[in-house]
Amino acid sequence: MSDAAYRGVVDAAVLHELARPEAGPRPTTSLAARRSPLAEPKRQIAALEAVDLSGKAFDGDFDAALSACGAAPLAAAAVEILQINLGKLCNMTCRHCHVDAGPDRWREVMDRATVDACLAALDRTAAHTVDLTGGAPELNPNFRYLVDQCVARGKHVIDRCNLTVLLLTRHRDLPEFLAERGVEVVCSLPHFRRRNTDAQRGGGAFEKSIQALRRLNRVGYGAGDPDRVLTVMVNPAGAVLTGDQCSMERDWRRGLERDHGVTFDRLIALNNMPIARFLEWLQDSGNLDGYMELLTASFNPATVAGLMCRNTLSVSWDGRVYDCDFNQMLELESRLDGVTGVHVSELDPATLEGRAVVTGRHCFGCTAGAGSSCGGALHDTSD
Ligand code: SF4
Ligand code: SF4
Repeated sequence: MSDAAYRGVVDAAVLHELARPEAGPRPTTSLAARRSPLAEPKRQIAALEAVDLSGKAFDGDFDAALSACGAAPLAAAAVEILQINLGKLCNMTCRHCHVDAGPDRWREVMDRATVDACLAALDRTAAHTVDLTGGAPELNPNFRYLVDQCVARGKHVIDRCNLTVLLLTRHRDLPEFLAERGVEVVCSLPHFRRRNTDAQRGGGAFEKSIQALRRLNRVGYGAGDPDRVLTVMVNPAGAVLTGDQCSMERDWRRGLERDHGVTFDRLIALNNMPIARFLEWLQDSGNLDGYMELLTASFNPATVAGLMCRNTLSVSWDGRVYDCDFNQMLELESRLDGVTGVHVSELDPATLEGRAVVTGRHCFGCTAGAGSSCGGALHDTSD
């Protein structure tokens, strides 16, 4: 597709607004914009494989870790969640981004034909939930259409929202739109302290996030209403595992309500996945070897049953099919009936259940400690 045609996918006025620095905090630029070798998924996989983990836990082999707990090969169960990545376009460029998203990624945005192919695939599965992610999924001009179509089908819809996108001119009415349709908002906020959040997301990110949270609160989110669920998603700042989800929820609740008058319904905590821009940070800061050792040494067999690849199917902006969003970023496509490269328009639901999930070293990011998935911790360690 030509650049002009891609620009046709994303509204010109939105692109114009994104070009302005105030559209979002930007502590860095995308790997793609810098033409960094790490922009290439194969280079990311090679960087992880190059870490010498011989003699460490499972010699750094994820399948060996699975075998040790009797869980190899990792097999998918029935699909419950269809996760649709609407594109890599984002108003921000956070340092830890596993998507390498940013305002320059407007070529990688799902068009209407692919959105309709996702809906047709949804109709062929028994998935009860549609999980919309990006980039900033709301920047896709088909976002509202897709939400309405999913709601009309009786699906639970999740919007993975970076909060600051709700302050953009064209998106100021989104809180009302989402509330009217009962969409769950899963918003990313690295920390309840300004300094910690701004360190990851850029100066001003925290203040904008608080403004957006207040807007969501005003339309009924974060007050215990099951049709207005506001989930806060957090991730640690450095080369460490995320903390205990229950105690973090207590701290975040206190910090946000006391200092900012903001409420939310639940908190989920994720480990940072050692790919894309977080991988770059690990390399640049000399933390890559130590982080990979930490992830492998912290392998927790109790997390395996709840891995998101077991009940989720992930579709990329161009309609390719993956076992999870992380595999999508590494371009490790699902093997369906032994075949890769299946487009969502050709998806045969009979090939999904029982398929062998494609794994790699990055998978240790999901099984370390309490575990980490799009739904947060996989194993309760609070007691
Ligand atoms: S982490 Fe989220 S908000 Fe930040 S650049 Fe990536 S997609 Fe955008
Ligand atoms: S990275 Fe994906 S495939 Fe690997 S364990 Fe995590 S969810 Fe499963």
